[in-house]
Amino acid sequence: MLEKIASYAVTEATSKGRVHPETPHDYRNCFQRDRDRIIHSTAFRRLIYKTQVFVHHEGDSYRTRLTHSIEVAQIARTLARELLLNEELVEAIALAHDLGHTPFGHAGQDALDKCMSAFGGFEHNYQSLRVVDQLEQRYPDFPGLNLTHETREGILKHCSKKRAAIIGDLGQRFTNNTQPTLEAQLVDLADSIAYNNHDLDDGLRSGLINVSDLEESPFFYKIFSQAEQQSRQQNHMVAIYQSVRKIIDLMVTDLIDTSRNKIKASKVETVEEVKGLEQPLIAFSDTLFKDHKRLKAILRAKLYSHSKVETMYQQGVIYVSTIFNRLMENPEEMPERHQLICKKQEELTQKAGRAETVADYIAGMTDRYAISEYSRLS
Ligand code: MG
Repeated sequence: MLEKIASYAVTEATSKGRVHPETPHDYRNCFQRDRDRIIHSTAFRRLIYKTQVFVHHEGDSYRTRLTHSIEVAQIARTLARELLLNEELVEAIALAHDLGHTPFGHAGQDALDKCMSAFGGFEHNYQSLRVVDQLEQRYPDFPGLNLTHETREGILKHCSKKRAAIIGDLGQRFTNNTQPTLEAQLVDLADSIAYNNHDLDDGLRSGLINVSDLEESPFFYKIFSQAEQQSRQQNHMVAIYQSVRKIIDLMVTDLIDTSRNKIKASKVETVEEVKGLEQPLIAFSDTLFKDHKRLKAILRAKLYSHSKVETMYQQGVIYVSTIFNRLMENPEEMPERHQLICKKQEELTQKAGRAETVADYIAGMTDRYAISEYSRLS
């Protein structure tokens, strides 16, 4: 049970509830139940074998989608507790935010988006919502996990205007340019704190990037070069961990202070007032935000475009597009459950229905399952 919560935080009492009404649980609130449903889902278990940046056979010490999601949840909970927001809701959103990711990270996402271009494209973030709303099969009377409105709203971080127009109430804020709850805003930034830091950590430990690559981002460079100097006689890995540890703490503290001031200045008292604003209230200070953006640019230029990562990327694109094309020609190669869905969808929307089923099937694959499917089908 939460000890203290702000008036502008989401609570069970003000929740818009579930699409299919359910009897309340004896001792777990609705957001605890959301979190538990996510942890027990098939899509969540599969995150362990899905690429973050490094494919799994590159080594066992790098992040996967699962450990990434757990790190996001950890950071988000710290932030929520300090800002008196709903800790259980942020945990649920954080654990679910990447459920729709394809195998092979952004390579898989880009390839599937291209394959689906004639059928509305593919967005991994929207796919996360599809997983919890449609694809998980747990209940006899409806598809999906029947999560609360607030968890679903938090999962859908971004959405094209075109898609927003056809998905109902969750799409409205993208059309109207309004804000989601503070809990949703918070997880979005916790996600970026987590991935920037762990990609930096994985990048440095793998040797694909060096501390000198960070020079253009003074905030990060200073911390790393200080730690490196101090540890000249010590363990290089410890110096990296110490720097990352320090940076996460500084970023979290900056986010707490800045957001607290913004909330105070805005004088919001309710969730509805938060959602009516044009600007988010959860934010970094301008100085940190600039450095944060610089770091993103450095990681893009040095790590994500590194020839070794690029080779993994190209390979991922080949796996995903080959599987897609083969299954579009031969949907009977899919497991029976997917074939049945495919037939139903084809009756409704013909080829688009087939493409959607194939894309759902591929998006659900782990890296290693996709590799074995690629070998079998080609
Ligand atoms: Mg993420």
